[in-house]
Amino acid sequence: MNTRPPTKIIVAGAGTVGLAVGALLATGRAADRLAVHVLDAKPLPRWRPDDVHLRVYALSRASQQLLEQVGVWPRVLSMRASPYRSMHVWEGEQPFGPGALEFDSADIGEPDLGHIVEDSLLRTVLADVLAAAPGAEIGVGAALESIAMGARGVTVHLDNGGSVAGTLLIAADGSDSAVRRLLDLPVTGHAYGQTAVVAHVTTEAPHRSAAWQRFLPGGPLAFLPLADGRSSIVWSLPTADAQRLLAATDGEFLADLQIASAGVLGPLVACSGRAGFPLQALHALRYTTARAALVGDAAHTVHPLAGQGMNLGLLDAAALALVIEDAVLAGEDPGDARVLRRYERERKGDNLKMLAAFDALNRLFRLPGWAAPVRVLGLRAVNATSPAKRLLMQQALGLTAGSENRRRWSHAESQA
Ligand SMILES: Cc1cc2nc3c(=O)[nH]c(=O)nc-3n(C[C@H](O)[C@H](O)[C@H](O)COP(=O)(O)OP(=O)(O)OC[C@H]3O[C@@H](n4cnc5c(N)ncnc54)[C@H](O)[C@@H]3O)c2cc1C
Repeated sequence: MNTRPPTKIIVAGAGTVGLAVGALLATGRAADRLAVHVLDAKPLPRWRPDDVHLRVYALSRASQQLLEQVGVWPRVLSMRASPYRSMHVWEGEQPFGPGALEFDSADIGEPDLGHIVEDSLLRTVLADVLAAAPGAEIGVGAALESIAMGARGVTVHLDNGGSVAGTLLIAADGSDSAVRRLLDLPVTGHAYGQTAVVAHVTTEAPHRSAAWQRFLPGGPLAFLPLADGRSSIVWSLPTADAQRLLAATDGEFLADLQIASAGVLGPLVACSGRAGFPLQALHALRYTTARAALVGDAAHTVHPLAGQGMNLGLLDAAALALVIEDAVLAGEDPGDARVLRRYERERKGDNLKMLAAFDALNRLFRLPGWAAPVRVLGLRAVNATSPAKRLLMQQALGLTAGSENRRRWSHAESQA
């Protein structure tokens, strides 16, 4: 039996990524040697069976595997998740015209390409894992305000006068990360000048478990299939247009959306409330320093056009948890800068590649009309080339990401 006092890991931010890394550590190979404290400025949203949360994510197979590892995936499926089996991408007036690209899970022998899952649901089930794990706790309602670094530990001070001390601080506090700022970890990035409008809409034609995305000159419009038959839309537009749509009546909004959708799901019948998210690209030049590591949107924020931000964050969570566990089991200090750099090496290159690809796609489709024939040729070429399509689908499933750690992670899971 282990009699040493546990190593305390502080996680700032109880978004899905923070809760996931906390749950992995609190239930993983080194759980009996770790104490995990997850904190957040805001209370956690609770999932409601009678109301589909406005924030939903298209989760990849890799994210599903992480949720399986902490034992919550069957619960997610039994509560509410909607598989999407195909993805249809196009530019121009005709959804099935020459510039259309179709991905079908059957083409790569998979039952689906992923699942649409609510943010509140993910956070509810992950918080329940932490609540049940000995040595784990969640503290909400107080923001991290300052950080005191020591040679062997770190203490965070909260805006309610409280403090938490530990060996390592994991920053999962989102794109406007206070931890990143307080530790002077530099970032690069730019605002897109676009805002994503999200809403759930009722359509006359069924979504057929397909995700639809049209590239418009102002930005992409996506329809994601929900379990209740509606579709969740993510419509990225120049910010002034988005603000107008957010202030419009339901009727005005649906009329504009009807035109933008090119009628791909028939007439639009009704919509839920709407919310807007200003879009930016952001990448931290360093993910780690002694006693601290950035994960999720705190490390990188990507355009939502490929629905990958959360999936990348969950891959960070898995990679960092493995590095910490390996260190603790080997008797190393998990807050040591050299240990944490293993995590940075594992994730930074992959994240950077994805960020650059989404950025390029957004720019490509916002080029003026003269570029449209070139784009159509490109889409047509991809559609006609099975290996290129297969690779893109595997990328979307998250099955090509994260070399060594991902292999070990899948292996650990198959042994469990
Ligand atoms: C419109 C839109 C659609 C998207 N769709 C998808 C999709 O389909 N699939 C996908 O993979 N990704 C998607 N994304 C990306 C995804 O939303 C993000 O990548 C993801 O939410 C990041 O999670 P996170 O836990 O890192 O950060 P967050 O979700 O931002 O959580 C950060 C947490 O930290 C807390 N916090 C902040 N500051 C402090 C502080 N000082 N002290 C204490 N707590 C603090 C916050 O309260 C919050 O709970 C989408 C993004 C947008 C904008």
